Amino acid sequence: MPYILSLDQGTTSSRAILFAQDGSIVASSQKEFRQIYPNSGWVEHDPYDILTSQLSSAIDALTRAGARPRDISALGITNQRETVIVWDRETSKPIYNAIVWQDRRTAGTCQQLVQNGMEDTVRCKTGLLIDPYFSASKIAWILDNIEGAREKAEAGKLAFGTVDSWLIWNLTSGKKHVTDYTNASRTMLFNIVEGTWDKDLLTLFKIPSQMMPEVTWSSGEIGEVTTTLGLGSIPIAGIAGDQQGALFGQLCLKAGDAKNTYGTGCFLLQNIGQTFVSSKHRLITTLICSLNRRLEYAFEGSIFIGGAVVQWLRDNLKLIRASSEVEALAQSVKDSDGVVLVPAFVGLGAPHWDAHASGLLIGLRRSTQPGHIARAALESIAFQVSDVIDAMNSESANWFFELRVDGGAAVNDMLMQFQADLLGIPVLRPAVTETTALGAAYLAGLAVGFWENPEQIWSLRKNDTRFEPKADPKETARLRERWHNAVERSKHWTQ
Ligand code: ADP
Repeated sequence: MPYILSLDQGTTSSRAILFAQDGSIVASSQKEFRQIYPNSGWVEHDPYDILTSQLSSAIDALTRAGARPRDISALGITNQRETVIVWDRETSKPIYNAIVWQDRRTAGTCQQLVQNGMEDTVRCKTGLLIDPYFSASKIAWILDNIEGAREKAEAGKLAFGTVDSWLIWNLTSGKKHVTDYTNASRTMLFNIVEGTWDKDLLTLFKIPSQMMPEVTWSSGEIGEVTTTLGLGSIPIAGIAGDQQGALFGQLCLKAGDAKNTYGTGCFLLQNIGQTFVSSKHRLITTLICSLNRRLEYAFEGSIFIGGAVVQWLRDNLKLIRASSEVEALAQSVKDSDGVVLVPAFVGLGAPHWDAHASGLLIGLRRSTQPGHIARAALESIAFQVSDVIDAMNSESANWFFELRVDGGAAVNDMLMQFQADLLGIPVLRPAVTETTALGAAYLAGLAVGFWENPEQIWSLRKNDTRFEPKADPKETARLRERWHNAVERSKHWTQ
């Protein structure tokens, strides 16, 4: 039986999933890896942890399925976006750890650029807001802080890549230094109107163009695996940033189609078609996977802390032992009893974009129980998503009439029901919630003829679970007002 192998390189774990032609999961494997926090607000990964966890999960998945490399028709890669790796072209050794998308060390640099009036220029070229979240200021930090890096970069000896580039470089033994349009669009150095690395922005951030990877389409044969680690000769035929992967995996292929992923962060993307539109409500515009080989765009609302708030309950407050226990704890009380948690642990993303906001827990009383805090934590995820949907609804003609969801926290029925209640529209959860990996598999499979077209793929999709809104709109309006009050109080705290 031929399969597609999908590598899903996430923020906290690397996953590998083998998909069969009917879209079902044949085998999967997941390896968590180390998070490194060298300073307050800094988040790093060891690039070799990324690589080895990803390769070993792939081999594990193949072993579990009893498959050999020749059973794999193609490989698709989807990855945590914006994370920056800089390596030496000759030795393939990174010159610094990967600086992760959540890292805020460049908040000062970004604030300075905003004060210098650069926001409009950056937005018109890249669709992005100036924020440490995107790659550019992180690459600049490495060049400025690692001895000899700038000289080497100028001499063409260093390569920059997002995680997809790093994986492909290693899988092809340094033959391919590539990324795809979706990953490139997150660097703040790529002109998404013209489809090229932007000379002005490279100059602004003092990044030599010699470091940049070649940019390819998301679906198409890029090269083949040359490592002998049990994956040899498999064609690499799909690449997508994780959120664009999920949008494709949910088959949101036409303007107006949208999905929200509830992972570590929450990411709401709405396909807006082939015309670049700059948001008036502090959303970003980003490139999505195109089968037509034309630039296609989405609005995106990025929420930094989604499911991660549940990890915080587990790892920091120790209220639960596993993320899955949060639902029972939250259901031990009938409501949050006025407790509101704003999880601005790494600042606030869309639609606020306040790098200096900080987490806030308010409404506490003598009677407050862990259950109220768990409930407030889950509710905070849905409140943030509702705020982004409001922004999108005011932006475009494509009003939301339903929300397609996926990601690790979307398994939580209580959260999904609360989300439907807050929004007043149905929430649809697919049978396979691994849509990120599915998207990368579709991209690779369509490129090599494993699947013929999206219509064939659509016909394979099983029925969704539907959550219908049940709450009184007056009551949800009251809850949202209280939430907005708390959000305002969390802003500008560390300034
Ligand atoms: P990522 O791809 O960003 O690593 P996943 O899609 O795997 O994330 O989702 C993991 C997140 O989902 C974690 O933050 C975890 O706390 C959260 N999560 C897992 N199970 C539940 C649950 N039952 N209820 C709420 N959140 C959950």
